[in-house]
Amino acid sequence: MCFSIEEFSVYDGPGIRTSVFLKGCPLRCTWCHNPEGQVYGRQIVRSPNGCIGCNNCIKYAEQTENGPAFTEKSIENCPGGLLRYCGEECEPGELCEKLLKNASILGKVGGVTFSGGEPFAQRDFLFECLGKLKGKMHTAIQTCGYTDADTFRQALTLCDFMLFDIKIMDDDLHRKYTGVSNERILENFIQLKNSGLDFVVRIPLIPGVSDTESNIRQSCEFFKENGVDYVELLPYNKMAGGKYKMLSRSYDPKFDTEAQVHLHPEIFSEYGIKTAVL
Ligand code: SF4
Repeated sequence: MCFSIEEFSVYDGPGIRTSVFLKGCPLRCTWCHNPEGQVYGRQIVRSPNGCIGCNNCIKYAEQTENGPAFTEKSIENCPGGLLRYCGEECEPGELCEKLLKNASILGKVGGVTFSGGEPFAQRDFLFECLGKLKGKMHTAIQTCGYTDADTFRQALTLCDFMLFDIKIMDDDLHRKYTGVSNERILENFIQLKNSGLDFVVRIPLIPGVSDTESNIRQSCEFFKENGVDYVELLPYNKMAGGKYKMLSRSYDPKFDTEAQVHLHPEIFSEYGIKTAVL
């Protein structure tokens, strides 16, 4: 199931790319700016623009332990037509046919990037698409690296490029802010490095969480050990909280969203690591 397909993306890998966003993610990063990608199934989202506050959507919502969940009736009874489904079943053959039509426009460097959510959460779908596109179009996976070692090993033989997030080096903090241990992520990263596949590492810089001197230093130590000399930095997007309202979810980031993000250029240069801020 996909929740978005974006064309002409320039930040999701080499060249100009089509990005396919798949639903489902095993992590719950408190700064997630794509919360509609976390849940596996189709969801109803509500746009705040144009709302007249009639509360019909709530009146027809079902009560769940996570608060009200919109229903088909919520969609039907919104006078502004502000509710819609997020997430669409797509069939690998059909999707790849569409993607291949653009292959010549995107050129040899550009291609398709599977993102999410977490693309490994839909392993079979992802692998079927990669198999169909192999050798015909440049393919990339944008991943948090959280999957089992065998799945990851297989992916390395199917795609051409990986965008790999490394968030927090301290395992307790990683668990606190993402909900999972970083152990298998770091193990998979070492597999990636040893595979010879082209990749880029990305760090989401979250104020007081991953942009601390200690996390950046520990990350640089790890990168140095593993021969990484270039890292892309993704400063926290202050607009991230807005999408939670669309899902009727409260936003509890567990950090100061207004604090300044620190880029620590001096630490990266001390370790001889070049950076780009996206
Ligand atoms: S039904 Fe539509 S207009 Fe009414 S409160 Fe809900 S979103 Fe707003």
